[in-house]
Amino acid sequence: MADDQEFLADCTRFINEKWKNKDCVRCGNQTWSAMPDSAVIVVCVQSMWRDNRPTTYYEMMGVYCDNCGAVEHILKPVFDEWRKKK
Ligand SMILES: [Zn+2]
Repeated sequence: MADDQEFLADCTRFINEKWKNKDCVRCGNQTWSAMPDSAVIVVCVQSMWRDNRPTTYYEMMGVYCDNCGAVEHILKPVFDEWRKKK
């Protein structure tokens, strides 16, 4: 549980550092929140042009606009790198 709260706190810190004053493309709002429950979205990528290539998975973190709920994504490895440096 503590880990979970720390993750969410770091997530919020990352958003405040990187996303502060960034306009939402849909409504122009400038406040963003991390998805509840530290949700991580896993995207499965399969090559369309080479059958024998293994399927790749990317972890993304959802960030949503506080006003209209539009969701944007942060590539989790980028967040993990930032987290290591802090
Ligand atoms: Zn919005």
